[in-house]
Amino acid sequence: MKNFKKKFLSAMLACLMLSPCAAGFAACDNGSGNPSDSGNAGAQHEHTWSANFSYNDSKHYKICSGCNEKSEEGEHTYGTDGYTCTVCGYENEAKKPAQKQSAADVFGGVKASYVRGNIADADGTEKSFNEILDRQFDLLAQDILYRLTYVYGYNQTAHNRTKNAKYTLKNGEKDFSYQGNNAVVNSNTLLAAQQESVTELTSVNIADINDFQKSVQAVNSNNYLLDAATINFVGAIEGRYMVVRKSGSSKMLNSAKTDNCAWSWYQDGASTYSEFSTKNNIDKMKMAIAQVAANKAADGNYSEAAYNTALAEIGALGFDGFDNAKLVKFIKSNVIGDSLVNKDDEYASTIKTEYNGIIDDNSLVEIDGETTFTSNIATDSPRLYKGYSMVLPAIVSQAIGNTFENTMQKIYPAMNRYAVQSFDNLRAFANEAQAYESIVLMPKTEISATKLALKIKGANNIGVKCEINGEAVQVSAANDGELLLIDLHAYAKKIGAYNGGKENDFSNNLFGNSGAGAAGINNGAHYIKLIFENPNGGKFSVEIDGYYNK
Ligand SMILES: [Zn+2]
Ligand SMILES: [Zn+2]
Repeated sequence: MKNFKKKFLSAMLACLMLSPCAAGFAACDNGSGNPSDSGNAGAQHEHTWSANFSYNDSKHYKICSGCNEKSEEGEHTYGTDGYTCTVCGYENEAKKPAQKQSAADVFGGVKASYVRGNIADADGTEKSFNEILDRQFDLLAQDILYRLTYVYGYNQTAHNRTKNAKYTLKNGEKDFSYQGNNAVVNSNTLLAAQQESVTELTSVNIADINDFQKSVQAVNSNNYLLDAATINFVGAIEGRYMVVRKSGSSKMLNSAKTDNCAWSWYQDGASTYSEFSTKNNIDKMKMAIAQVAANKAADGNYSEAAYNTALAEIGALGFDGFDNAKLVKFIKSNVIGDSLVNKDDEYASTIKTEYNGIIDDNSLVEIDGETTFTSNIATDSPRLYKGYSMVLPAIVSQAIGNTFENTMQKIYPAMNRYAVQSFDNLRAFANEAQAYESIVLMPKTEISATKLALKIKGANNIGVKCEINGEAVQVSAANDGELLLIDLHAYAKKIGAYNGGKENDFSNNLFGNSGAGAAGINNGAHYIKLIFENPNGGKFSVEIDGYYNK
């Protein structure tokens, strides 16, 4: 446009400079031979034609300074360059080839994501992302299994079911801690926030998880979820308290194990945490966690190869996008068994519809009165309720939200496989070799989707997929140093000035990094994104060479 304006201006100036002379030809006959002038009475003069051509987008012509009449009018004739008129010098912008502009003129910044280097664990040791995933899943598996056995295990003395019980999660043989604070499962927050002033529990609303938490805290006192005379969760893992026995007027739950009522994962022996958290059970729980984190169905079928495959598919550690319900379903179907859980849901439904969802002295008497006893024994009664559909989601959610003792630091923080780094200076960025996963280009102002020139340096056969505002545009591949032109014209809309965030998340400390990469990426609605296919995983640099004006 600039060129065009300049030329037009000079043509006009040439015209104006001639004007004073034109005054000298006050009256001339219509000698121009232009028939259209013939009827123009009183305007007869000798035309004074401009020296240079004037032009518009389609034609050029000379103009008389006295009467504005046009002469020598003709269509532009373009020369060998295809866009400059050989007669008048007009340059047709539409015919002009696209010109490459400096990338820094077009883009105000870039945001790059790349494979994160080794990650510093709580004690400072460096681990790969997959090793960190594995260690974190191991802690979470312990966390969940501890809570499960705390509520449903037998032999509570050995199990340490005391007021303020604590279990410190282990990294191998060692207690896991960060900055001197242990990673602890605390009975006071086992299922929900700590309940204040709990002395006993003689009325339970089965829709209120706080009542279940009160049951965990009420030790050595009346506790209607922990008593053979009422309802008893203890020993459910082993299939205990699954029979009501009538003896005179008392109806007590039978503490002995009942066939077919033990959990699927229970083998034999005790069901304390230390007995139940076998390597096999920890591995299966880790496998299920990894599968859910990888967005797959959880079957818990552990093998080293299957586990590593699942780990490789996980882009982010942290549980913001984790589907808790999938893991709960796994615990129900796999750890416990669907038939036990379905029966328990029936009891819950009966307690809700027939006893207002309340377990207390009145409803317990009613329940016993409405239970069928055969030979003084009942094996189908809401007295056998274990609260699975309330307790299991609470266990998963409390475990995932667990924090180091006396701190707000999450034990399971967000950490992305890819670091995110924003740059305002395109040159500085171009010199940084990384195993890039993607680069977001941030337009300074509204631009058209034209053609992007870039060079990938330091690696061969890096595939480049391009997206504009989330829509796929083109896939290309590049060799080391080769100028790669990515045609974006398929995207017909304009791209506005970048309106997303400029996150940074490249700290390699598991605890105390921003987590932006895992949770907070905001590219807004106006950006060009390059996504790299890097089969060898090597590092390379990306020089944004320019952006075409059309
Ligand atoms: Zn004239
Ligand atoms: Zn022309």
